[in-house]
Amino acid sequence: MDDSVIFRARALVLSDLQARALGTPDSVTLLEDACAERRWWLGQWPEGAPFIAGLVAQDVQDALADRFGRRAKEGLWPVCTRCEGGPVHSLHIEPDLGGPDPTWVCEESGAVVAPLGALGG
Ligand SMILES: [Zn+2]
Repeated sequence: MDDSVIFRARALVLSDLQARALGTPDSVTLLEDACAERRWWLGQWPEGAPFIAGLVAQDVQDALADRFGRRAKEGLWPVCTRCEGGPVHSLHIEPDLGGPDPTWVCEESGAVVAPLGALGG
């Protein structure tokens, strides 16, 4: 099977974790787990390749929230830095299916913030 899809997804999500100072061992472990699961999934369904990167991002987002809780700094990734004032809120991946062309969108305003992998600017 073509592992380059998984490697690319890993690189994009790691870049966005690092953009928010979350390239920590704990977070990277969650990323590795997500990549391993999605690698299996891709083996079952090769046509799912365009969705992999966004799905890994969603998996890591959920795993961080489960691990740290949504009230913790680490549990709310990535936080929206686009909106001024108001409660802290996060971004989510669109399309919901994970792809193609996964993009971070503000869950409050619906504004497009950055393509996956480009949160660091
Ligand atoms: Zn926002």
